[in-house]
Amino acid sequence: MLRIRNLKCYYGRIMAVKGVSLSVKKSQIITLIGANGSGKSTLLEAICGLLPGWEGEITFEGIPLKGFDPPAVVKHGISLVPEGRLIFPPISVLDNLKLGAYTMYRKRQHAAVKQTLEKILELFPILGQRAKQAAGTLSGGEQQMLAIGRALMSHPKLLLLDEPSMGLAPLIVEKIFRTLETLREEGITILLVEQNAQAALQIADYGYVFETGTVVLQGRASELLADQEVKRAYLGKDYGEFYDDK
Ligand code: ATP
Repeated sequence: MLRIRNLKCYYGRIMAVKGVSLSVKKSQIITLIGANGSGKSTLLEAICGLLPGWEGEITFEGIPLKGFDPPAVVKHGISLVPEGRLIFPPISVLDNLKLGAYTMYRKRQHAAVKQTLEKILELFPILGQRAKQAAGTLSGGEQQMLAIGRALMSHPKLLLLDEPSMGLAPLIVEKIFRTLETLREEGITILLVEQNAQAALQIADYGYVFETGTVVLQGRASELLADQEVKRAYLGKDYGEFYDDK
């Protein structure tokens, strides 16, 4: 579905992504794990048309994304849940969600927007209960749900998530990751960037390990979870506490 070949991303003269290749298959969860500053967010930004200068090839359903601006990327079925959520704090939860459907509003598809909204409120009932509240007053977990809900408003085929677990308590992370599994069951493909390698690998089908702008290891998520080097470098001593039932 998404193919990246020899991607190189630059900030001025600094190369932040150094020739990365990866594939994302339909209806799978693919995770990118790795330390801070290893280039994971930069790769997501390149896919979304948020980075001016990159080299290589990014194709989505066979279409090259080179030169696409963010609205064009969204129109083709890719949506980003950005790092730090980036919701709009002063406006209501409902209006934040509606902003995610701006391309549909432009086409005057009001009935379709209403239907999508209802589906998202089923997925995250708490957002319905808080619909009229200013988004900035939500808890961190609720804000993450809002950011995911907003991204879903544009009917993405591919959902990109940048560190959705950041700053959240383990129980909330589990709830959010369960939702990602539900979305996969509904046929949405997910590219998940995570520092919480343990939680990410437990729901993912396949994973890539990043280090200073390159992929140093890749494999089925279950294999990476069992890999001694991954355990040592990314899983830490708490490994095994998540999803004991899996
Ligand atoms: P994190 O989890 O901390 O977001 P990451 O793996 O997503 O890490 P990136 O944010 O993609 O990594 O950063 C990759 C490299 O690019 C880092 O060295 C970072 O300092 C650099 N970088 C990121 N954004 C910019 C920017 N706007 N200008 C200059 N350098 C940047």
